[in-house]
Amino acid sequence: MNAPLNIDLHTHSNCSDGVLTPAELVAHAAAAGVHVMALTDHDSVAGLDAARSAANEFRVGLVPGVEISSSWRAQAIHVLGLWIDPAAATLRDMLRSQAELRRVRMRGICTRLEKIGLPGAALLGAVEAQPGIPTRSHLAAALLAAGHIARIDEAFRKYLGKGKPGHVPIEWPALPQVIGAILSAGGVAVLAHPGRYLLSGGARQRLLADFTAAGGTGLEIMSGGNGAQHVEASTVLALKYGLAGSVGSDFHSPQFVWNPLGRSLKLPDCITPVWRGLLP
Ligand code: AMP
Ligand code: MN
Ligand code: MN
Ligand code: MN
Repeated sequence: MNAPLNIDLHTHSNCSDGVLTPAELVAHAAAAGVHVMALTDHDSVAGLDAARSAANEFRVGLVPGVEISSSWRAQAIHVLGLWIDPAAATLRDMLRSQAELRRVRMRGICTRLEKIGLPGAALLGAVEAQPGIPTRSHLAAALLAAGHIARIDEAFRKYLGKGKPGHVPIEWPALPQVIGAILSAGGVAVLAHPGRYLLSGGARQRLLADFTAAGGTGLEIMSGGNGAQHVEASTVLALKYGLAGSVGSDFHSPQFVWNPLGRSLKLPDCITPVWRGLLP
């Protein structure tokens, strides 16, 4: 019998808040034994060409992807678009406007940080000097580099999270708009890390219902760092809403050694893989 495929459909490069270039990311995935991977940068497809070249070189199957930020009941929800055509016009337009929303938000956050005595202008300069679209991870890294925090998660707890002095609420496009852009680019829409949203059980079910009604067809059953309990909960949700299952590490950096690329992920047998019929 053939060995099972090692599949990782959720990874980040430095075109968003990952630390590796797309080519380095693919090389790392190949070295980790990954057979098929998706590059899914936050609101950006800028890394896909370089990832494609590297994937050809390293003989890794590359799924063109993106992780789009959406708003649902004032909460940011992440939708993975997999097997997308990055050149599709509606998707391009949406990503252009997402990048602009992010730039405006970053300036707003830095203005707020300035007001509480942090060097907002310098922090903004440090973020804008980075390649790729600006994310709060970039700002957290700048805060760490300048010695204002001791650990990355402190940036979110003290400054950037909801209710903190540097929090700038942002209205991302709604689920139907995000899923519509993915579908019109020929892609498949997968709800990322369903266990990570701060929702009651009932609200999570309504999210799944709205996601499915808008044309979403996949749920990330396993996402980096999640335990068996989470797998079970998302399996139940996928079955209830008739969603296929996806797997991904949500890899950002080799420094996070507990969350490597392509850690052997296996979908429960009762779940239809989102990649069924889509891999060569
Ligand atoms: P953004 O999309 O700009 O809002 O940035 C969100 C990104 O920040 C996420 O994709 C994570 O990579 C990272 N992030 C969010 N919360 C935390 C946290 N508590 N600790 C470390 N990284 C975080
Ligand atoms: Mn991220
Ligand atoms: Mn995410
Ligand atoms: Mn992600």
